[in-house]
Amino acid sequence: MPIARSSPLMLHRAVVFHIHGELPFEARMLMEDFRLAVNSAIRAGLHAKVTSRNALTKLAYKDFRIEHPNMYAQHLVSSFEVAGSVLKNLRRRWGKGPIHRIPYVRRLMMKAENQAYKLDRENGVVDLPIRAGCHVKLRLVLSDYHRIFLNDKSLSLGSLTLLPDRVIIAFRKSAPRPYTPETALSLDTNERSLDGVFLSKGGSTPVQAAFPDVAVIQARHHNRRKRLQKTKAHDRRTSRRLCNKEGRRERCRIEYRMHQVANAVLSFAEEHRAAVVLEDLNGMIGRKRGKSFNRRLSSWPRRKLHNIIEYKAAWNGVPVIKADPYNSSRRCPICGRIKHSRMGAEFDCECGWRADRHVNAGINLLQTAFPEGMAGGLRFSPGAFQHDVMMILYDPEMGARSEPNGTSQSMGRSL
Ligand SMILES: [Zn+2]
Repeated sequence: MPIARSSPLMLHRAVVFHIHGELPFEARMLMEDFRLAVNSAIRAGLHAKVTSRNALTKLAYKDFRIEHPNMYAQHLVSSFEVAGSVLKNLRRRWGKGPIHRIPYVRRLMMKAENQAYKLDRENGVVDLPIRAGCHVKLRLVLSDYHRIFLNDKSLSLGSLTLLPDRVIIAFRKSAPRPYTPETALSLDTNERSLDGVFLSKGGSTPVQAAFPDVAVIQARHHNRRKRLQKTKAHDRRTSRRLCNKEGRRERCRIEYRMHQVANAVLSFAEEHRAAVVLEDLNGMIGRKRGKSFNRRLSSWPRRKLHNIIEYKAAWNGVPVIKADPYNSSRRCPICGRIKHSRMGAEFDCECGWRADRHVNAGINLLQTAFPEGMAGGLRFSPGAFQHDVMMILYDPEMGARSEPNGTSQSMGRSL
């Protein structure tokens, strides 16, 4: 079912900036004070069994004012907020038993709400108050990517997070109204690619955005973790630390690729005023779930890719429709027969319809999303399906070669 976005949604985008030169001494001291305040607020909150920022403020503000007489009041309040979120995370795990170790935030950081700092968007200079009469200026390293956010006046500023070597600024805007689609890009999510069909007035063409390396990265990291667990079996703490590090690296590398794929898909969709159709990974409530569907649900990269696509689409006003994937890989889109036998790479039906198995699933998603056809009478027709052409929206080699940020695409590459 199409998702109607009636009320404008507030969207956030975190942008990382590096800082020119050394971090000023006062800023470092501020971060240390902030950490101290967070950690004592965690203790106070645990003691009094409260987690909300307001409750923590009421509880601890006076004492902290005495302990940290110089800290800018707004920073102190946001330290309570950080402490509150640590406590909420902790509370989520409380069901598993008593807390043996009170968490201690080691990471040097501080967070400032949007009223608590100033940003010169022209020159990229952050003005951060430390205490009455003392401000530090942080000069940010700016690239074209950063300028996009700084120059876009429709973006307002959210919170700022200061880390020893960088600054993360949240930019906010209300989601633009999605355009009215004139074409459709329907994509079925597979382990190594997005496959489906692009439907326009000129007929329909199979499309693919491939990410074969994601499965390779996953397998490699999985093996590494297995090996680490074996070689460090005598030292579980080291083993856990190294495994976590492997996991972080793996996620970073996969997410990077997913962003490239999403950018390619969305720039194509935007250019052709297409509605993007994806399978609804949540839409199977109350139905018996097969093994294959459970695997779909549990596959982290798929969900991640969907999240990235949906988020970027909302940011750019590209309409996204989620379609129920029930039987999408087994149904014939022409006659409706369900195929129960095992399938090869190709789906072929008694009625004479043949298509690549993954592309066929994409066509079914399209049919589910637009059972009556699209506005303007546009609908999938087997006669206008270009069997012999595959449009490549993204392939990792091509993406890496032509443009480093992966917004490139090419079309009409025949098989
Ligand atoms: Zn058929």
